[in-house]
Amino acid sequence: MICYNCKKEIEDTDNYCRFCGAGQGSHIAWYYKIWGVWILLFLIGPFCLWFLYKSPYKNKPVKIINAVLITALSVWFCYKLYVAIKTFNELLNSLISGTFF
Ligand SMILES: [Zn+2]
Repeated sequence: MICYNCKKEIEDTDNYCRFCGAGQGSHIAWYYKIWGVWILLFLIGPFCLWFLYKSPYKNKPVKIINAVLITALSVWFCYKLYVAIKTFNELLNSLISGTFF
C-alpha cells in the first residue's frame, strides 16, 4: 500500500502511515471525509474545496459532485450577501437623503 500523503510504501495492515502519521483507509482525518469537508464549508467557506481535493477518498464522481455542490452553494451565498449589502446600502442612502419617509 502507498500512503496518499507522503507516497511512501507502507504495510497493507497499517492504519496510520509509519512515516508521516497520516491515517489510512477508514482512519483518514475527519476533514478529508466528505461530511468533514461540509463542516469545513461552514467554518472556512470555499477553502474547504482544497481539503476535498487533497482527500484520499477514492470515489472520484462523489468528490466531483460534492465539489460542484460546494461551489454552487458558495456562489449562491456570495450573491445573496451582495444583494443584502446592496439593499442595506440603498436603505441607508434613502434614510440619509430623506427620501425614505
Ligand atoms: Zn505517509
